[in-house]
Amino acid sequence: MPEYHPPLAGRTALRLDFNENTFGPSPRVMERLRTVTAEELTKYPEREPAERNAAKHFGLRGEQVLLTNGVDEAIHLMCCAFLEPEDEALIATPSFFMYDVSVQLMTRHLRKVQSDASLEFPFERFMAAISERTKLIIVASPNNPTGAVVGREHLLAIAAAAPQAVLMVDEAYYHFDGASVMDDLATVPNLIVARTFSKAYGLANLRIGMLAGNAELLKYVRKVSSPYNVNGVALDCLSLAIEDEAYLAWYVEQVRVGRERMMAGLAELGVPYFPSAANFVLMNVGPKHKELVQTMRAHGVLLRDRSTDPGCDGFVRITIGLEDHVTRGLEALRTSLAEIGWQPVEYPAGTGTSGDVREFE
Ligand code: PMP
Repeated sequence: MPEYHPPLAGRTALRLDFNENTFGPSPRVMERLRTVTAEELTKYPEREPAERNAAKHFGLRGEQVLLTNGVDEAIHLMCCAFLEPEDEALIATPSFFMYDVSVQLMTRHLRKVQSDASLEFPFERFMAAISERTKLIIVASPNNPTGAVVGREHLLAIAAAAPQAVLMVDEAYYHFDGASVMDDLATVPNLIVARTFSKAYGLANLRIGMLAGNAELLKYVRKVSSPYNVNGVALDCLSLAIEDEAYLAWYVEQVRVGRERMMAGLAELGVPYFPSAANFVLMNVGPKHKELVQTMRAHGVLLRDRSTDPGCDGFVRITIGLEDHVTRGLEALRTSLAEIGWQPVEYPAGTGTSGDVREFE
């Protein structure tokens, strides 16, 4: 099975590499953290009250929500709950690498449908790749690293075409786009939605995420989860974070405005990019991608090189944060591109190969 080794060392510059919130969480969370007591730390956490609270906030019943140690753990638990060694899992690629890791822990039958050069979700070929053996389908919308959205109609068509499977829609970047299939949980029995509190809410280090869906399905996922998977401080902070809607709206608006500025800035610099619905933009800088990332680091801004992702040769991703961070990111880009002697080139929109369905066996 593959390993996921994100480049975490030495991240002291402006962090535009991991799609984190670049400001901080709601001030209510910070206040709560200042009051943590020794007694609280000695106690095992109780997940249910926070779960009920989150469920109420999202218009669901308590048993329709499972809080997890980030969506990373949610993906892992979904694979444990729904995949046997002979089953198939289906994902699109490029997408979030943890799907590969967690699926391959359970089965060798991972089918990956490659996007074409547009890096849009390959809907028709994805539908054609569903088989009787497909038991788990994971789709990220907006997708990472492409920023592409998968339309609700397409997601519902996938769920309907695979009644023998569970469809997990990973809405980690939902806030920056606004489209969701959460309201479809009531009518689509094999749908589960994942949300993270690492991005818009700024709680990546507290490790908290959520699965929402059919209570019967979630029962299986709950079975494979430790009762103490989320720490009590994070559970408490979650309740405070979701109540502070004004903070969330403010941060999301910063990102939406910043994303437009970033895309306009890239166009002005002549750097091809993929229109994004998330808090990052993927750009195609071609053969000088490594040089650009190094030079940006020297200028105090971290980027993420995505060029080893399938169909992403030469691609680099930049996170969108607060207005000032976008300004610094764009300035550093302008300087770094000039320093490395980068010339705008006629790149195709992407370099993805099209048409293949790959199987790892
Ligand atoms: N899904 C996607 C699409 C992501 O990009 C990420 C984070 N990079 C995650 C899930 C994991 O988020 P968390 O911090 O909640 O584990």
